[in-house]
Amino acid sequence: MGYQYDRENIFAKILRKEIPSETVHETKHSLAFKDINPAAPTHILIIPKGSYVNFDHFGSDASEEEIIDFNQTVTTVIQQAKLDPNSNGEGYRLITNTGLNGVQEVPHLHFHLLGGRNMGTMVVR
Ligand code: AMP
Repeated sequence: MGYQYDRENIFAKILRKEIPSETVHETKHSLAFKDINPAAPTHILIIPKGSYVNFDHFGSDASEEEIIDFNQTVTTVIQQAKLDPNSNGEGYRLITNTGLNGVQEVPHLHFHLLGGRNMGTMVVR
């Protein structure tokens, strides 16, 4: 069946600027914006601009340029948010929910960058 990308998902609409978002960083291939319903003092979503449903789709089909850009964007956003040791940051959690078992709501690859408080237990056991 392969990867099915829904062009009407909410992040696709954000990328087409059909709905607003609060951009924190943008590059040729990636966009970072504030989560509309933050779960921590810092809650930023980082997405590739390409049409990838999840991380394994991205890793399989994205170009090296896109993959490098996305990785660099994640690092830049962590540093801009001052969560890294060079900024005396106290760490963060980086999450990408995938599919049914990962409980992914929006079917466009996104990393959640969460920080500014202790994030607690990793998952419910
Ligand atoms: P996930 O459950 O991993 O797919 O996470 C989807 C995330 O997208 C949630 O944290 C939502 O709060 C967030 N979200 C949904 N709609 C918007 C929007 N229009 N702008 C910013 N964040 C959004």
